Amino acid sequence: MVEAMETIIQGKSLETWLATCPVLKDIISLRPTFWINPDKKSFIPGGTEVGVSRADVEDAADRLERFRPLLAEAFEETAPVQGEIESPLQQIPVMQKELSSRYHCSAGTLYVKLDSHLPISGSIKARGGIYEILKFAETTAINYGLLKLKDNYKKLLSPECRELFGKYSIVVGSTGNLGLSIGIISIALGFSVTVHMSADAKQWKKDKLRSLGVNVVEHDADYSVAVAQGRAEAEADSHCHFVDDEASKDLFLGYAVAGERLKRQFAERAIVVDATHPLFVYLPCGVGGGPGGITYGLKLAFGDNVHCFFGEPTQAPAMLVGLATGLHDTVSATDFGVVNKTIADGLAVSRPSGFVSRIMQHLLAGVFTVNDKEMYRLLTLFWRCEKICLEPSALVGFSGYSRVKAVLESVPGAEQQHASHLVWATGGSMVPELVWQDYNRQGKKYLVHPG
Ligand SMILES: *Cc1c(COP(=O)(O)O)cnc(C)c1O
Repeated sequence: MVEAMETIIQGKSLETWLATCPVLKDIISLRPTFWINPDKKSFIPGGTEVGVSRADVEDAADRLERFRPLLAEAFEETAPVQGEIESPLQQIPVMQKELSSRYHCSAGTLYVKLDSHLPISGSIKARGGIYEILKFAETTAINYGLLKLKDNYKKLLSPECRELFGKYSIVVGSTGNLGLSIGIISIALGFSVTVHMSADAKQWKKDKLRSLGVNVVEHDADYSVAVAQGRAEAEADSHCHFVDDEASKDLFLGYAVAGERLKRQFAERAIVVDATHPLFVYLPCGVGGGPGGITYGLKLAFGDNVHCFFGEPTQAPAMLVGLATGLHDTVSATDFGVVNKTIADGLAVSRPSGFVSRIMQHLLAGVFTVNDKEMYRLLTLFWRCEKICLEPSALVGFSGYSRVKAVLESVPGAEQQHASHLVWATGGSMVPELVWQDYNRQGKKYLVHPG
């Protein structure tokens, strides 16, 4: 290479980067990788996390309780569970056996958390996204004297409240699923809502939103541009609430409520999580709010007995680049030439949330990357084994379990213990049949022709 052509990335030569941060070699060559976080520390609640606390998460959980009567009324599917937005936890022995023989990775007991089947919007975004809009509605109604904390929140469905909410607009930038969740709940409450969709957003998600009356603005650019456009639009309007996927504490807290909920589900099934029965959790990561919030909630619930790993597409390793370089949101995977072309629309993000990345720096056990072909293969395998349809993003966690040897080696003493392994399946129940069939065809093809 000619000296003068040497590329400088974030003030350092590529050579220097590779020497100080060797995982970048895999990242740049799009090789699936497994990175152990050297900065992970023992979890002390109220310790190193800036800007969030256990009290904040409890406050979010209480708020969701107050909204249960409203949700049960507005969304029929939640009536049998009195308006709780929660997903099933399921043991998946057939899939575990399949993965064990395919990847030689037998260890512990494998479970899946089916956020793909969360009510209302069928993805992990039904946690954070819906929570943020509910909080905004509550605050607005209280400010106008239309609601008290002790009231039955069904009141917010009254014509009076709808009229008030109609004066406000909600704006969000999204790769698809956040837009779906924000759109559905905002329309149900009477807000007007605009979703800025990145180029990765799937057609059916845009169609679905338009059919509900959501204003969908399509962008030719990637996710961070869609978010920036939304932010700019909202700043100009005092009656506009912008859901900031790159920085929202409310989104994060809505996700974090999952920690105590999962603890309850484990307790109900008498699944022990303690120092000799650790829990390993594999979460697909985009900008980081969803998996980050859940990780924080899990840490509050299980402390050092839970080990959380994020999975990202090889084409969109936003959090991995942010954490491994220590540059958080001041770096983008595109700086290293990784161009963000992936079938995993929910994860098609190049720059992590700085707020979340900084919280994860001492909590997260590691990050692994997965290519699109592997997501397709896992989609077909999971369907064959458990008869559950997921969207490609939601399969990423299984790739973490397929590398369980490396996972266990990263935690001293873990090999000898009986561990639970939990794959967080983040979306899929709303995918139209024909779209899913197309994914499955790809999966079958890549199972026959690997590579
Ligand atoms: C959004 C999303 C994620 C990741 O959440 P982030 O907050 O963007 O990190 C994972 N899976 C699916 C299906 C999603 O829609």
